[in-house]
Amino acid sequence: MNLILMGPPGAGKGTQARRIAERYAIPQLSTGDMLRAAVKAGSPVGLQAKAAMESGALVTDDIVVGIIADRLKEADCAKGFILDGFPRTVPQAAALDKVLAGMSIAIDHVVDMEVDSEALVARITGRSTCSKCGEGYHAVSKKPSVAGVCDKCGGELTQRADDNEATVRNRLKVYNEQTAPLIDYYKKSGNFKAVDGMAEMNQVFDSICAVLG
Ligand code: AMP
Repeated sequence: MNLILMGPPGAGKGTQARRIAERYAIPQLSTGDMLRAAVKAGSPVGLQAKAAMESGALVTDDIVVGIIADRLKEADCAKGFILDGFPRTVPQAAALDKVLAGMSIAIDHVVDMEVDSEALVARITGRSTCSKCGEGYHAVSKKPSVAGVCDKCGGELTQRADDNEATVRNRLKVYNEQTAPLIDYYKKSGNFKAVDGMAEMNQVFDSICAVLG
């Protein structure tokens, strides 16, 4: 099963993608995670991506398309994959179509998580993630038992550098201008479904699974 999970920043794509990956035993391919790892490692890609990421702008299409094209060739993608945060522009979607055609595979489902844009700033600025196991937390809706410590594994909770209000507002603007047009792009493909991303986390997961079958 080859899936694209769409939605604005803060919609909960990462959380849902992790759960889908577990349920369907397919990898989650998050360009955001890959880019953050590249920045941390100080690799050439990381050095090129750093400034754009810090301001909430998009990294150039050629960089992200290159990363995804390489990743899709890895053995664990043979059974399927979840694209999380990619594509984010129409040219990226067109490039993905080409890469997939070259591999004789296609996207089976595009799931869009619809959320109220007013809720997104509060959602994003309150979130933190375990640096060890990746579990997500929120200052209001999902507090850890001990501040700054993961309930699951005891790892340290960290906030993303781009989860501050100014950057979040720019990321939402960029989403509306450059990523939202992908909804029409994929509606034409016939395998597009929207789910209510404002519902409770388990309910959102159930709606996504109902689409995937
Ligand atoms: P995310 O973790 O998906 O919110 O991505 C964090 C940041 O990484 C974004 O704000 C962009 O700067 C960059 N990024 C992630 N995926 C892409 C993409 N497909 N195209 C361009 N930039 C991306």
